[in-house]
Amino acid sequence: MTDEILPLLLRHERFVITTHIRPDGDAIGSQVALGRFLQALGKEVALLNSDPPPGNLAWLPGIEQVETFEGAPEHLKQIAGADVVIIADTNALERIGKLADPVTNSGALKVLIDHHTGPENWFDATYARDTASSTGELVYELIAAHDADAIDDPIATALYAAILTDTGSFRYSSVTPSVHRIAADLMERGDLLPEVIHSHLYDTKSLQGLRLLSRSLDTLQLRYDGRVGYMVVSRRMMKETDASSDDTEGFVSYVHSIDGVRVALLFTETASGTKISFRSKGDMHVNEWAQAFGGGGHRNASGAYVREPLDEVIDQVLAAAPEFLDLDDGEPTDDEMSQDDEDYLALLQAMRAQESRSP
Ligand code: 5GP
Ligand code: MN
Repeated sequence: MTDEILPLLLRHERFVITTHIRPDGDAIGSQVALGRFLQALGKEVALLNSDPPPGNLAWLPGIEQVETFEGAPEHLKQIAGADVVIIADTNALERIGKLADPVTNSGALKVLIDHHTGPENWFDATYARDTASSTGELVYELIAAHDADAIDDPIATALYAAILTDTGSFRYSSVTPSVHRIAADLMERGDLLPEVIHSHLYDTKSLQGLRLLSRSLDTLQLRYDGRVGYMVVSRRMMKETDASSDDTEGFVSYVHSIDGVRVALLFTETASGTKISFRSKGDMHVNEWAQAFGGGGHRNASGAYVREPLDEVIDQVLAAAPEFLDLDDGEPTDDEMSQDDEDYLALLQAMRAQESRSP
């Protein structure tokens, strides 16, 4: 409840606010909004993250206050000396990256503001609801419970960007009448132009990124009678298109957009393993499946990182699908398995053909 956490925030002075590695619009928007709200109350606030914000948030008012933590003495002092460390938009220690050790060692109260499932148990206070559309929605509730007039243009813009990001532009099942009311209130209080915010966030793709998408789309495969779809981004594709891992943002939604696909996966090869993105629709949940591979997230959007090569991870994750999804007829039959093998061969051939086509 807001009436437990608000007094705690109001009676302390020195804050560090952090969020997850590879932060997105919800992470940064929530952090910036909360930071500005606390600063307006005269608090000392540092915004410290393990990774820098993505390029498509460079325009966000207040983004210049977000600093990247690399172990600088000044930052270590801020964390050690804080009264409160707020962890926003993740509930897992390993997801705050390089801040994990200094935050653990700090005597500060650790406050969680988050909407993921299965929170860890090292927090002193939490404002969390896994049915919330976004951490931005929760930050809005906190600020509005104190004083809705504190929501000025920069706060409204940051929260609108946060909610827009995590609702897939107001299209996921987490979107409730309340989310739309919050969006309407933010529009009025901030005098916002949704078209402009949307364009800043989504019409800033790089040519390299779209070339990478084109390569990745060539790897698209369907399994389990077309209910599970996946595609792949290899390091080689990334190198040859001169794209970066940030450019893969949103790729998985192309798999999801195929008629009949209930679960979409994206496998991204990294220097030391494989990143998996899981997306699903409705009551088909993917969070436990992601957890089985060491990850987590939301029921309809999860992720995991596995220190194993791409091809092995693809096989393992797909083979495990029937354990976590209601695919009607359960285990794939022998016929389906041999079809899977054929699909996989086709995928490898497509990837090879692509690689031999490129310079
Ligand atoms: P994405 O596929 O966009 O990277 O991640 C989707 C969601 O899954 C994120 O919002 C995050 O909550 C969760 N997630 C992604 N990667 C990991 C991971 O490695 N560990 C955990 N616990 N959650 C993850
Ligand atoms: Mn979020």
